Amino acid sequence: MFDSITGSLKNAINKIRHKDDEAALKKAAAELKKSLLKADVHHKTTKVLVSEVELETKRNGIGQDSFINALRKELTKLLTTEGNQGFVFSNTPPTTILMTGLQGSGKTTTTGKLANYLKIRKKKVLVAACDLQRLAAVEQLKQIAAQIEVDIYFDDNEKDPVKIAVAAQEKAKKELYDVLLIDTAGRLAIDEELMKQLANVKDAVKPDEIFYVADALTGHDATKTATTFKEKIGIDGVILSKYDGDTKGGVALSIAHQVETPLRFIGIGEKMPDLEVFIPDRIVSRLLG
Ligand code: GDP
Repeated sequence: MFDSITGSLKNAINKIRHKDDEAALKKAAAELKKSLLKADVHHKTTKVLVSEVELETKRNGIGQDSFINALRKELTKLLTTEGNQGFVFSNTPPTTILMTGLQGSGKTTTTGKLANYLKIRKKKVLVAACDLQRLAAVEQLKQIAAQIEVDIYFDDNEKDPVKIAVAAQEKAKKELYDVLLIDTAGRLAIDEELMKQLANVKDAVKPDEIFYVADALTGHDATKTATTFKEKIGIDGVILSKYDGDTKGGVALSIAHQVETPLRFIGIGEKMPDLEVFIPDRIVSRLLG
């Protein structure tokens, strides 16, 4: 993870050899900018970060340590978006979550991972198979549910995802489930029909939160599509999948800064336990190597 950004951040830090060397700080800032852009950090995010690091370093006296501290502080600040962290339970169970995302982003897998995460924490979880768009999605969720031993609601004879979602919620209420995770349809790209369907499911079940699963490997596109989902249906959290394969590492920074929605979890592998609560400090430590 993050080989390239970690290496080039070290290059930036190494530019400062002597205390109070303003010219060296300028060079370090330029190097920092280059490495962030190369790591797929959005140019606006990069601009804000570099100027804040420069200012903070000057405030504390130019030197390698103060540059590293400033970088750590500003990266953490950037990744800490106002809002909920991890999983938040509703006061009136079942906590209903809509899982959204584009096809192939890892939405169905992440629904299983989240169900597994909650099951380990002794919660009674129901997953609902409402992705009727991708042919194999319902079957995939059935297999995952069997594997992690979590209950699933599906209806092979029903073509309307809204009806399935509503029936799943009724079951969850009646049978006192703690959490209902609804896997919704994805598309290869954002289209109006998808958004309409999601809006209909949202109106029908009134979820406590909507999670958007963003594929870390899609770089700037992940930020763009998350922003569109936020504008069109409203999202409360982003789960960044495939973070294990992301050698650049910048997408988390761009999403936190540009989408202004908290990152809640990261996917770090294909298996069910490969899900971590997103903790800014931990990510910063990984970025700084
Ligand atoms: P969906 O179309 O969005 O429901 O996507 P899937 O859940 O079918 O996932 C697409 C592919 O991404 C599958 O091969 C998953 O195993 C893989 N995948 C999902 N999350 C992760 C992750 O965090 N890391 C890795 N390496 N692969 C993942």
